[in-house]
This record gives sequence, C-alpha cells and structure tokens, in this order.
Amino acid sequence: MKATKRQFISKMVTDLKPSGIRRFFDLAAGMEGVISLGVGEPDFVTPWNIREAAINSLERGFTAYTPNAGLLELREEISYYMNSQFDVNYSPTDEIIVTVGASSAIDLAMRTILDPGDEVIVVEPCFVSYVPMVELAGGVAVQVQALKENDFKILPNQLEQVISSKTKAIMLCSPNNPTGTMLNKQELEAIAKIAIQHDLLIIADEIYAELSYDEDYTSMAAIEGMRERTILVNGFSKGFAMTGWRLGFVCAPIEISSAMLKVHQYALMCASTMSQYAAIEALKNGRPEVEEMVKSYRRRRNYIVQSFNEIGLECHIPGGAFYAFPSIKSTGLTSQQFAEQLLMKENVAVVPGDVFGESGEGHIRCSYASSLEELQEAVNRIKRFIDSL
Ligand code: PMP
Repeated sequence: MKATKRQFISKMVTDLKPSGIRRFFDLAAGMEGVISLGVGEPDFVTPWNIREAAINSLERGFTAYTPNAGLLELREEISYYMNSQFDVNYSPTDEIIVTVGASSAIDLAMRTILDPGDEVIVVEPCFVSYVPMVELAGGVAVQVQALKENDFKILPNQLEQVISSKTKAIMLCSPNNPTGTMLNKQELEAIAKIAIQHDLLIIADEIYAELSYDEDYTSMAAIEGMRERTILVNGFSKGFAMTGWRLGFVCAPIEISSAMLKVHQYALMCASTMSQYAAIEALKNGRPEVEEMVKSYRRRRNYIVQSFNEIGLECHIPGGAFYAFPSIKSTGLTSQQFAEQLLMKENVAVVPGDVFGESGEGHIRCSYASSLEELQEAVNRIKRFIDSL
C-alpha cells in the first residue's frame, strides 16, 4: 500500500511515551529461564467456583449486553460488599457502575470531570496509566513526589504547594503500586482536609484494598466529608485474582456517577456479561479464597522484605498490594541499569523504579506474586548479581 503523506495520528498520541514496564516484559519474553518479578498480577488462577459461574452463565445462554451500569444483581452485591468490607454506602441503582477493569473506571473518571487545561495532582511513584489518562482526557497532570524518607507517603503540605486555581482533583492510590505503601485513617484524614478546604475531588484507586497485611483498611470515601467528593475505583483483578476478566467498578455520588454513565454508555456500553456473572459469585462466596490468598501474600512479603534487607537492598515494609520497592542506591547503578544488567546477567526481571515517577529512581519494583521457591531463587540470583558488581 502506498504510504500516505498525511499525519493521521493525533499529536497527543504521537507524544505519548510507551509504558516503561512493557519494555521489560518484551525483553524478558524473548529469553529463557527468566524469573519474572515484573508482572503486576496475582499468580493464582481465579478460584474454580468463580470460573464455574461464568461457564454456567454461558450454558444458560446469557450472552447478550447487560444494562450500561452492569447487572443489577452485581451492583447490589457490590453495594453490600462495599458496605460490609469498607463501611461505605452506595446505592446499587444510581451510584455504582461496573467497568472494564479499574483501568476503564479511571479513564471514565478523567473524561467525565476534566475540561481542557484542568489540573489533576498525581502522587508519584504511581501506576503508569494515571498521567496518560489525565492527558488523553485533555487535562494536565501535576506530578508530586512521595518520598522514600516518608515511607512514600505524601505529606499534606506537599499537596498544598501544588494546588492552583485549575486543580480539580487529586489522584491517590492506597495500597500503592509500585511502593506497596498504605495510608492509615489519620493520613487519609489529613489529605481529606485539604481536599475539602480547596474544594477538590479525590479519585481514590483502591484496587488493592483487599491486599492489606498489617492494619484494617480505610477507604477514602469512609472519611468524614469525603463521600461527596470521592470517586472510588475498585475491581476484581487483584483481590479476586481476576485480571483477565477485565472487571472493575466505580462508586460515586449520583451527580457524578450519572455523568460518568453518559460517557460509559457511549464508550463501552457495558462490561463483559460472563465476567459479571463470575463477579457475582466472587462477591457471594469468594471470601475464604481471598483470605487464603492474603495470607499467602503476607508470608511472601515478609520473606522478600527481610531478604532484601539482609542482602543490602534497603526496603521499607509495604503495608499492602504485592510489591516490594527496595532501594538499589548502594549499588551505584541507576534503576534502569540495575534492571537491565540483572536481566542480562541473572535472568531476573524487575521493573526500574523511574518508570513510576521521579522519586521512584534509585529503586526497583519487585512483584512478590510468585511462589516462595521462585522468590528464594530470585533473591539468590539478585545477591549474586550485587556481589559481582
Ligand atoms: N490501578 C492500579 C494501581 C493498578 O496497579 C492496576 C493494575 N496493574 C490497575 C489500576 C488496573 O487494574 P484493572 O486490571 O482492574 O484494570
């Protein structure tokens, strides 16, 4: 075909950088015998009863679209789940939308609230999608760095320093990807106070809420005065080991959720029907398995954090998610150099911390959603690599 002269790709997309995580996946994929601590997903297969519920739905011929907001039965289960687990109240008929993963919930939130030039404060290090999602929705991402010396917790005065007349929202993730840091009730209250003072929304990405290991989880929407200014994002990928089902949800007060539904009905219509049937089963009967998985992650977290500290990679204790974020500063390498050389010399894939933001430099993200045997072998190899430097 003759190449066209016209530039069809938008400037915005042309300028979009490819995800720094993908590059390491692609490098590792072409190699043999690689232990990957790079992937941000559970190593568990979705529990059988959940898979069976999807199979049953297909056998019964439930293959059509669902309502835009999702099956009412699922929204009722979500409403009950959010109330019983996280002490927040959302109406199943008006305030919950079932989405295509937490990813589409975040995209939906941005597209619904942002006018061109509106600013969203993005707390880094963070999930690689936040900044592109703000920008693709026409907004401006204002990055602010949570620092290692504060255990990667953002301080209220850091937020105040970057608030401007154009700030509309703060994007917050707890437990965090990539640091595993979880904010407690007092820390959330301090951030909430600022959101209330400056009349801002908080987009709370709580996708790892199930995976908290030391303290009870507090949702941002459960903080006094925050329900009306929180867009609460959650989903099934992490806690229920359902990444491939592409199912998440968003809860927000009716004024916001009804506006989000307008976008969702045009952009996606609805989430996958069989995944929604699976999710009903996950919420009805999935607790014992979730609790087993949490126990297993906790054991692995304790092992990997202790091991990293023992081999000289200083690592804070992550309160949740399934990532350790040790410092590699003692090696004198940048995070990109460390990750690349470790992969080439010892066949271990980790993600360089700089892909998650400026303050991630000097660290690597290691997912511990792998078997203990694999983690042990990975630690041996990392130690050998450090000793060889
Ligand atoms: N938020 C965070 C912080 C994540 O780490 C991820 C997945 N890596 C997502 C959202 C997206 O999850 P989902 O599979 O539900 O789209």
